[in-house]
Amino acid sequence: MASVQTIIIGGGMAGLACAAHLERAQHDWLLFEAADRPGGRVRTEVVDGYHLDRGFQVFLTAYPEARALLDYEALQLRSFKPGARVRLGNRWTRVGDPLRRPIDLFATLGARVGSLADKMRVLGWKRRISTASPEDLLASPETTAAEALRQMGFSERMIETFWRPFLGGIFLESELRTSSRMLHFVFKMFGEGEAALPAGGMGRMPEVLAQTLPFNRLRLNTPVGRISDGAVELEQGGRISADRIVLATDGAAAQALLPDLPTPGFHGVICDHFAFSDPVPYGDWLHLNGNRRRLVNNVAFPTALHPTLAPEGRHLATVTCLTEAPLSQVCADLRTLFGNRTDNWKHLRRDKIQRALPARPHLEPPHLPIEAKPGLFVIGDHRGLPSLNSALATGRLAAESIIRGGTAGS
Ligand SMILES: Cc1cc2nc3c(=O)[nH]c(=O)nc-3n(C[C@H](O)[C@H](O)[C@H](O)COP(=O)(O)OP(=O)(O)OC[C@H]3O[C@@H](n4cnc5c(N)ncnc54)[C@H](O)[C@@H]3O)c2cc1C
Repeated sequence: MASVQTIIIGGGMAGLACAAHLERAQHDWLLFEAADRPGGRVRTEVVDGYHLDRGFQVFLTAYPEARALLDYEALQLRSFKPGARVRLGNRWTRVGDPLRRPIDLFATLGARVGSLADKMRVLGWKRRISTASPEDLLASPETTAAEALRQMGFSERMIETFWRPFLGGIFLESELRTSSRMLHFVFKMFGEGEAALPAGGMGRMPEVLAQTLPFNRLRLNTPVGRISDGAVELEQGGRISADRIVLATDGAAAQALLPDLPTPGFHGVICDHFAFSDPVPYGDWLHLNGNRRRLVNNVAFPTALHPTLAPEGRHLATVTCLTEAPLSQVCADLRTLFGNRTDNWKHLRRDKIQRALPARPHLEPPHLPIEAKPGLFVIGDHRGLPSLNSALATGRLAAESIIRGGTAGS
């Protein structure tokens, strides 16, 4: 039977981060990934020259784990303008971050999403949170995001027209039942960095990370079927033993391999990609639907940041809905947002992602233990705050523990 020091199961951002830290320490490792490429939920596919991310997601440059691990220059990041354009009735209004773009001051103060007092509350919140560490935020008293916004004094109008679509697009749930700890963490990350896309799409992120690793240690198209007695069994046959095993799949796949883990919940999302010829003005802003009766939650135009994401002269719109509806209804809602120009938009693909984000309404404790038993680690975004940052953090923590030769908690 073949043997290696550490086996990593799953090559999403958590598994890759673990591999990268082990590699830096010249530790012996092997990673098995079921799919044809690394990246897991961060994936870009090229369809007829269009680079389509599997579901709209942004890279928050302030993520501390990403800053420590990823080569931002190689990613060639470009950012959306801070804030969002919000559709209210039949008009767009603009909510910016005047501290970063003073030019947005008057538009933001006049934005119809809330009162002047609401705008001041945003600034006060930003100031308070800038001095708090992520650890402080995770130790803060916990309630739902919706309740926390009310406790901070935001008006119902501000919550309905701005926070609900803005945060709904991040938490992938519109009730805002997500933990207030996640709310504060995400707000801090938006405030301290940019919401960016790499050239080539989000999939470039795992690609760049994987390129730093020895190719022969990444075994693609190799699903693991079973974990037993310090060894893994491959679905296609073969058994490899290891001193340490790191299970770096999503929560559901982890439970399939380790039935003692709790049954995870997920938030899903529906994403439609469209192509068109005439650029949309202000495409480098995130677009939110602030109308009460909405199907489309948010729209982004990735080619406004990176024109090479589409063939020359063509543009992309990525449309996110939090509930599923027929394409005709999505198109009708898009028409209310962008007018009849959308009649010429060509539908490219629908991504229906049922297991997009772990549902952890209570982040208590914020970080779940990552060592299931001695020598067996369980990592990924389902062990912390559901985000790329947690995926990377748990990968690092497992690697550090392995390198120390101790346990995750030691
Ligand atoms: C539409 C969408 C929008 C998102 N938006 C954001 C955002 O804006 N900001 C943010 O921070 N996060 C966002 N996320 C979440 C973020 O993408 C995830 O938190 C992160 O990618 C999780 O990484 P992971 O390594 O923990 O898990 P995964 O990416 O799920 O990786 C697990 C890997 O394990 C592999 N695997 C599974 N079973 C096996 C097996 N038996 N054998 C071998 N391999 C196996 C899978 O193929 C996969 O590659 C979004 C996610 C989606 C889908």
